[in-house]
Amino acid sequence: MADRPPLTLRDLHAIPVTDLKQVGPKVGDRLAMMGIATVLDLLTHYPRRYHDRRNLQQIAALAIGEEATVYGTVKKVSGRRTRQGRSLVEIEIFDDTSYLKCTFFNQPWREKQLSVGTEAAFFGKVEHYRNRRQMTNPVVDVIAEPGLPGADTGVLVPIYPASGKADVQTWQIRKAVGEALDRSALRGFADPLDEVTRAALGLVDRATALHDIHRPESMDGVRAARQRLTFDEFLLMQVRLVARKRTYERERRGVEHVVDGPLVDRFHAGLPFPLTSGQAAAIADVARDLTAPAPMHRLLQGEVGSGKTVVALSALIAAVEGGHQGALMAPTAVLAEQHFLTVRGLVGDLSVPEAGSLLGERPVRVELLTNATPAAERRRVAAGLLDGTVDLLVGTHALIYEGVEFADLGLAVIDEQHRFGVEQRDLLRSKRAGDDRTPDVLVMTATPIPRTAAMLIYGDLDRSELRELPKGRAPILTEVVGPSVLERTAVYDRVRAEVAAGRQAYVVCPLVEGSAKLEAKAASEEFERLAEEELAGLRLGLLHGQMPASDKEAVMAAFRSGEIDVLVSTTVIEVGVDVPNATVMVIEDADRFGLLQLHQLRGRIGRGQHASVCYLLADPRTADGAARMEAMRTTSDGFALAEKDLEIRGSGEVFGGRQSGWTDLKLGRLPRDESTVVEARAVAESLLDADPDLLAHAQLREEVEDAEEKLGDDAEFLFKV
Ligand code: ADP
Ligand code: MG
Repeated sequence: MADRPPLTLRDLHAIPVTDLKQVGPKVGDRLAMMGIATVLDLLTHYPRRYHDRRNLQQIAALAIGEEATVYGTVKKVSGRRTRQGRSLVEIEIFDDTSYLKCTFFNQPWREKQLSVGTEAAFFGKVEHYRNRRQMTNPVVDVIAEPGLPGADTGVLVPIYPASGKADVQTWQIRKAVGEALDRSALRGFADPLDEVTRAALGLVDRATALHDIHRPESMDGVRAARQRLTFDEFLLMQVRLVARKRTYERERRGVEHVVDGPLVDRFHAGLPFPLTSGQAAAIADVARDLTAPAPMHRLLQGEVGSGKTVVALSALIAAVEGGHQGALMAPTAVLAEQHFLTVRGLVGDLSVPEAGSLLGERPVRVELLTNATPAAERRRVAAGLLDGTVDLLVGTHALIYEGVEFADLGLAVIDEQHRFGVEQRDLLRSKRAGDDRTPDVLVMTATPIPRTAAMLIYGDLDRSELRELPKGRAPILTEVVGPSVLERTAVYDRVRAEVAAGRQAYVVCPLVEGSAKLEAKAASEEFERLAEEELAGLRLGLLHGQMPASDKEAVMAAFRSGEIDVLVSTTVIEVGVDVPNATVMVIEDADRFGLLQLHQLRGRIGRGQHASVCYLLADPRTADGAARMEAMRTTSDGFALAEKDLEIRGSGEVFGGRQSGWTDLKLGRLPRDESTVVEARAVAESLLDADPDLLAHAQLREEVEDAEEKLGDDAEFLFKV
């Protein structure tokens, strides 16, 4: 037995948790409800915190009014209903120095949980009631069941996230984990990092880490264990990301482009402004990718209003210059239309060579395709795409419908990429009919993702960043306005004053979570109310997601041309809309929006040379809400706001939905573990440099493969190799 190899994660994954003697069918079912089915799940169900039994306060020494943690045995329990019909559970605990009473309101299950003899830690505020000290509704961690007074634990007692719903107690998990560790002790745990690497990184080995996180002798041991296990989480991700990126570069053949021909030159010469240095750098990054043999897969990340469109256009022109076609896909018809107008304005008088024609050239042909495009027009565009006479196609999801195929798609640009699904991006890339070469892809986002978070989510994309706004922009003043009528009136007076001065304004209506219909209704009502009251006499327009696309486009066109003074809308204006003459934005019920959403909304103003102001009408009732309003008031930098957002919410939520599958973090958190991410990235790169297929790192390779299998579907959105 002793010479059997150490246990791998795959081994642990193959053992059902019910094989443990400590886990009977009932506990097994409950653990399953918490997502713990295998011994691997169990061993990676890490303690939430630890109680140090030497450091607890003694009941006899508690002062009234202080917050304290005490550790005691339940001596008495009783449950009843108050006269108001509320449930009331009262218990007495004893810790060798004195007794303390704890009362629980509306927690009837405490009666069963805290039966006589149970040992538990209690955290709460010490109160004085009828001449006695007591705690009301303290936080409780059950340490041991009656009859087994903590005998199996050391001085540091791990407390597990024990799902109240699933009804598994922390001590039950502790005993199961204990058995799993004991029974693994003979073989130990296989370590994907060799001793030299561990020493260089100052990391403990995996067996020590798994032991010390569950059965620590000291908090230093806990810290070292967490550091190692956190590193493993990030390393696994980074190895997958780097490996994917390299496979992709190795195996795919790209399309060649011409980045310094006359068309590109004329496009740049014709720009009405000098490029910012960020734009110039991003254009150079893209040009390098476009001329490289492997297809480009680049993320362009840039603050709202930083001018991402120009970077995209210069790449699209390069595609056309090389004789290929380009596609630009945007999430909304409004935005697609705006891009279409921009593209046509900028390339309208450029020509491409045309063999056999009278002049030897023809004008660059740009087309728009949305759901509102009439069928006959759609057929005409589709035919032009297939015979290669359409050079650039701008549009919405309509671009990826059946029947749209490009003879020679050379570059696909996806704007506001976070609004698209993975499949949609892949579909666009697959629209090249001509041969099996892969079009270049540029995805753009205004979501300011902190650098390390981007390393997690977009670790296999090359990245360019626009951090500065074009010069000459007047700063945006942001004010948080309370709910009183007087304050609101002042805000709308300011809107009137701006309109009188020839400017335009946005009014953003409250978010209705989960119902676009109700949201549209609320916006329509607000539109009518404003038209009769605060903004009577002004030319108002209404925009919401339930309107037909053609109506939306008409309203936007009217707003763009200045025929509408104030645009009352839902968040459909959130992305990309560009009307430099708009200088005021009023956001109603602003505290209901997320921080980054507010930032993106605010980015609609401050795009011209006139000073802009953003009013956040808010009455925040939560600390988070108030913190968000304050962050908006004091910060205009999207990256700084993204960091604040991360702090307010924690990284778990930032990787919502499918992305949480990809990251699969149990311990790792951003921004706290930033340096670990950077370290893991470097280790992943040097490992794969020396050993591209991880032949000499079998254990690590196995873990990477298993992660691919488990999370693969979620991960496919980054790369489909
Ligand atoms: P976003 O990055 O939010 O998509 P846009 O590409 O829509 O930003 O650009 C915002 C506005 O800034 C547009 O009106 C655009 O014409 C203008 N713009 C872009 N680059 C520059 C520049 N270098 N100097 C001045 N204005 C610029
Ligand atoms: Mg944009």
